[in-house]
Amino acid sequence: MYDAVVVGAGVAGCAIAYTLHQKGLKVCVVDRNSQIASGGSGAAGAFVSPKIGKASSLHSLTNEAFAFAVKFYQTHFPQYFHKTGIIRIPKDDRDNQNFALYRAFNYPYFKDIKAHTIQSLGIQSPYDGFLFEEGGVVDAKEMCEALMGGVEFTSVEIHKIEQKEGYWKLNEAMKCRFLVLATGYHNELIDIEYMGIGGVWGCRGDFKSSLNIGTSIHQDLSISQNMGGIIKIGATHSRDASHPLLPNPLESLMQKASRLIDTTQLELVEVFCGVRSGSKDYAPLVGGVVDSAYMLQNYPQIQKGAKAPLKSIENLFVINGLGGRGFVLAPLMAHKLMQFILEGKSIDERIDPNRLFFKWARRL
Ligand SMILES: Cc1cc2nc3c(=O)[nH]c(=O)nc-3n(C[C@H](O)[C@H](O)[C@H](O)COP(=O)(O)OP(=O)(O)OC[C@H]3O[C@@H](n4cnc5c(N)ncnc54)[C@H](O)[C@@H]3O)c2cc1C
Repeated sequence: MYDAVVVGAGVAGCAIAYTLHQKGLKVCVVDRNSQIASGGSGAAGAFVSPKIGKASSLHSLTNEAFAFAVKFYQTHFPQYFHKTGIIRIPKDDRDNQNFALYRAFNYPYFKDIKAHTIQSLGIQSPYDGFLFEEGGVVDAKEMCEALMGGVEFTSVEIHKIEQKEGYWKLNEAMKCRFLVLATGYHNELIDIEYMGIGGVWGCRGDFKSSLNIGTSIHQDLSISQNMGGIIKIGATHSRDASHPLLPNPLESLMQKASRLIDTTQLELVEVFCGVRSGSKDYAPLVGGVVDSAYMLQNYPQIQKGAKAPLKSIENLFVINGLGGRGFVLAPLMAHKLMQFILEGKSIDERIDPNRLFFKWARRL
């Protein structure tokens, strides 16, 4: 019997497992794959940068999470966090005009960086940009493995979850009090349709190179600093699952990269493809799970727009919808979920999946 079982060994699952384990809980993480971070998390370039754009709740949440993540990684796992700095560069003239508007809402610790300085770092850009010196790159797989230090891991596909008196049963051998679903894009275990989880596919290439790129770059793709002879290039953009399976999944990525750096100098070492999961409103999904069947049966008027007191499924939680920023968001989201589960603190409404329930019910 475990205090908590986490289904899914991506960065979301590993981060909540770490946080609960730190609080003294007996935790087990299960994944259908035999390795940690074999889903979207293993494919990620794992760039850690703040969000730019106009003010919004997602903007402020992401930037709080960015500050939290940098401190968390540097304090606990500095060996897998490379503080390379991240330069944000406009992708065209229109984007360049937007950058001028975004500037006022930037994460506070940034510098303006002139086009000629960007060029001196080995990056082609006609535009000025923003430099976030605290930003960096995580070794995705190694970081997830490090988070799992001291936490039990079992490779098993969970097909069914059952709630018995006071505990969850996942199979004959596995029972727990708290069950956390960190299943990314795959969500067959329980009805969480109201969360509207969708997938975006993408790829990352790791290249051997002597190209001297001094700082990581983010445009509509990410290119890392040359880290010990390796440059990572990645992006997630396709809502079409067949895209990464094409004969050359890196083709469009490399075309875009060639606008920024000399790609003739790159020797491909390995390709990673994966899917990242996001919610309808792009904000994370962290907290409890509404009992949809109960709600629809007991309050049918919710389909006509009425509100009713929400009933959640006891001791069942999710941490999902981290979008293109799983490595930025996971540490803070895990912290908030731990406070919700163990300390009775209400969940931050910006991430509470309950926000999506009534809108979904009305559309049925
Ligand atoms: C190409 C690419 C580049 C990216 N670049 C960045 C980046 O630069 N910076 C950044 O912060 N983020 C980036 N991301 C996004 C980031 O990878 C995701 O936000 C993150 O991986 C989400 O993690 P997760 O734990 O929610 O999901 P996942 O990593 O997909 O993990 C879910 C796990 O659940 C398991 N699972 C599901 N169902 C079951 C079941 N029934 N039984 C057992 N196991 C199950 C799966 O096997 C999987 O391992 C990128 C993603 C991709 C694909």
